[in-house]
Amino acid sequence: MDAFHRLITYNREWAAARTATDPDYFARTVSRQTPEFLYIGCSDSRVPAEVATGAGPGELFVHRNIANVVLPSDLSAMSVLQYAVEVLDVKHVIVTGHYGCGGVGAAMGTQSYGLVDHWLGPIRNVVRWNKPELDAIADAQARFDRVVELNVLEQLYHLSVTPVIQQAWEKGRRPLLHGLVYDMRDGVLRELATAIDSPAAADELAARRLSGVPAGPPPMTRRAGDGTAASPAAESLASDELVDRIAARVVERLAADGGRPPLVAGASGRRPSPAARSGGGAE
Ligand SMILES: [Zn+2]
Repeated sequence: MDAFHRLITYNREWAAARTATDPDYFARTVSRQTPEFLYIGCSDSRVPAEVATGAGPGELFVHRNIANVVLPSDLSAMSVLQYAVEVLDVKHVIVTGHYGCGGVGAAMGTQSYGLVDHWLGPIRNVVRWNKPELDAIADAQARFDRVVELNVLEQLYHLSVTPVIQQAWEKGRRPLLHGLVYDMRDGVLRELATAIDSPAAADELAARRLSGVPAGPPPMTRRAGDGTAASPAAESLASDELVDRIAARVVERLAADGGRPPLVAGASGRRPSPAARSGGGAE
């Protein structure tokens, strides 16, 4: 029997056995689901969410991706989160990483894996922001384990600042957020952060996720407000200079052809032509 048909055969046997011991097993969940948990974990095949937690059908609402990343730009993750919180009204959201995570390991190295390199960018930031702490860990395995933990805290923080979670907390301090790490070496889920239920608790988490960085605003906040990005005014200035250069070239060409400069002013529709400005001080 090939591997695929082994799955199908097992499924038939499993469904029959469940019905034999509990005739209502499937009937209880067929009409609706009322899960208490949203589980966000890694896609890794060695991390069996339902098996490790003993959850049955209807108990876990699940979202998985490489290295359990939570990004506000991920339409899939944000849709799952909104549906879980606002429609299913889950009581807990659990971000679960795992030791030995290939995605985290890739983010720690320099080898390129193609498209997935983009996905792992946020984890590379985790490594960079916590460099002092990580450099102080001599053992490579321990350093790898620590990045896995820091990544869970980072993604948990991302989760805590989403509008869905912030608005839910404003209404009733639910859901609670938890960060776990699954240890494939012994099958145990270890608790990193539990019962985060408020912006204040999320702020405390923000400090923990950057344990190797001196006290101060987290990088995300600093990046957003440090003014290093091109401001609208700067972009406008650059555009004006470009228009001037193009207009000057057009004027030169028209002059060479015996044409008239006013065509340039008409093209921009908002300023006198360079020729007019230089000649009469129109500004
Ligand atoms: Zn993984």
